[in-house]
Amino acid sequence: LIELHDVGKSFRAADGTARHVLEHVDFTLKEGEIVALLGKSGSGKSTLLRIMAGLVNADQGTVNYRGQPVYGPAAGIAMVFQSFALFPWLTAQQNVELGLEAQGVPSAERAKRADAVLDLIGLGGFGGALPRELSGGMRQRVGIARALVMNPDVLLMDEAFSALDVLTGETLRDDMLELWDESRISTKGILIVSHNIEEAVMMADRIIVFDSDPGRVRSQVMIGLPRPRNADSPQVRALID
Ligand code: ATP
Ligand code: MG
Repeated sequence: LIELHDVGKSFRAADGTARHVLEHVDFTLKEGEIVALLGKSGSGKSTLLRIMAGLVNADQGTVNYRGQPVYGPAAGIAMVFQSFALFPWLTAQQNVELGLEAQGVPSAERAKRADAVLDLIGLGGFGGALPRELSGGMRQRVGIARALVMNPDVLLMDEAFSALDVLTGETLRDDMLELWDESRISTKGILIVSHNIEEAVMMADRIIVFDSDPGRVRSQVMIGLPRPRNADSPQVRALID
C-alpha cells in the first residue's frame, strides 16, 4: 500500500544546524497487515507518519501510495492523533463530518455516514455531544470515527491509545481489532505508532523497531499469532519480555 525508500528528513535547530530526524528509512505497509512502529520519544515516528500522510514532505527518498508518489494529503490515507485533535466547539457528529464537508459531500449523506460510523465505533446516540461532554475514551472514538468516515485505505494511528487510562485504551484497541479482523471497515492496512510493547504485540502482524538519532529502522519482528490474543498467554508474554 505504502512504500518508503531511503526517506530522510532534517529540521533546522535554533543555532542553524540541521538535525537529522530520519535517515535512510525503508519501509513497506502491505495490504492486509497491521504494522506497529516502536521507538523512543523523539526518534521521528510522528514525523514519519506525517510524511506518509502527505502532511510533511521528506527531504530525501521516495514515498509511494499504491505506486503513486505522495506529494500532499492523499485521499485514502487517514490519521488518528494521540491528542484526539477534535474541534471543541463542534459536536461529535460535526467533527466526524468535517472531512466529508471538505469533499463536498451533501449534508444528508454526511449525516448518514457520520451516524453509521459513530454507531460502528460504539458512540451511537452521542453525535450531538460536545467533546467536553465525553470521556477521554469516547473522544478518541470520535477521533477514530472521523478517520473511518472517509473510508480510508490506510489508517495511521499515532499513539492513539496512550492518552487514555490502561483499561480504556485496551478496550478501544480491542474494539478496533474486532472491526478490522471482521472486515467491518474498508481499511486495508493499519500502521500504529507506540511506545508500548504490549500494545504492539497484541495488535500487530509485524513490529518495526526504530532507532533514534537519527530515526531509522533497526529491526523487525513478525508476530505469527492469531487474533484476538490473550495478553497473559505464554506466547504473548515471551514476545513482550
Ligand atoms: P514522541 O514519541 O515523543 O511522539 P516521535 O518519535 O514522534 O516522538 P517526532 O515528533 O517525529 O518524534 O520528532 C522527532 C524530532 O524532530 C524531535 O526532536 C522534534 O523536536 C523534531 N521536530 C519534529 N517536528 C519538527 C518541526 N516542525 N520543526 C522542528 N523540529 C521538529
Ligand atoms: Mg510522536
